[in-house]
Amino acid sequence: MKDENCVFCKIVAGAIPSFKVYEDDEVLAFLDIHPVSPGHTLVIPKAHFPDFSATPEEVLSRVVTAAQRVAAGVLAGTGASGFNLSTANGQSAGQEVGHLHFHIIPRKDRDEHKPWQQREYAEGEAAKIANAIGERLRNKASPRPAYRRQASRGVSGGFVAQGVGSAGPPPFRPSSPKQASGYSAGRQ
Ligand SMILES: [Zn+2]
Repeated sequence: MKDENCVFCKIVAGAIPSFKVYEDDEVLAFLDIHPVSPGHTLVIPKAHFPDFSATPEEVLSRVVTAAQRVAAGVLAGTGASGFNLSTANGQSAGQEVGHLHFHIIPRKDRDEHKPWQQREYAEGEAAKIANAIGERLRNKASPRPAYRRQASRGVSGGFVAQGVGSAGPPPFRPSSPKQASGYSAGRQ
């Protein structure tokens, strides 16, 4: 799986040079050439998948597991005390290269990297949105039904058995207001 016009596929193929920091049979990690902070690293599958949502679970599992190892190296190699792990899914989220990639951005205490701006929910808004999301997850167990059978016998089989797999999605349990206020999807 390769896209002739994809800059990351070209990096995988060696047609474009990069500062590689990690490589195995399925995953490559290299420095972002426009770093948010020194040591800002991208972790990608060698095969071309457009984004997080379009990547098969077994590939995603390998990439995320590799990202965990790479992040440990980034911390040790840069002297950073923390990192952000993120991916942009879709152009509206700021995705610039259509090949799944996770950013590992080294962080230090009191650095200049600003967290995302957060807001408050209006009265009743959180419950309404949580229900809308939960409703869809109950009715459509996976956004990628084509991968469902593959995933059930892949490395993510354990996760599938516990949660959103062939046994069906878990029942939706709205959080209590206290729990809801303690959780922030926007916090980086
Ligand atoms: Zn690609």
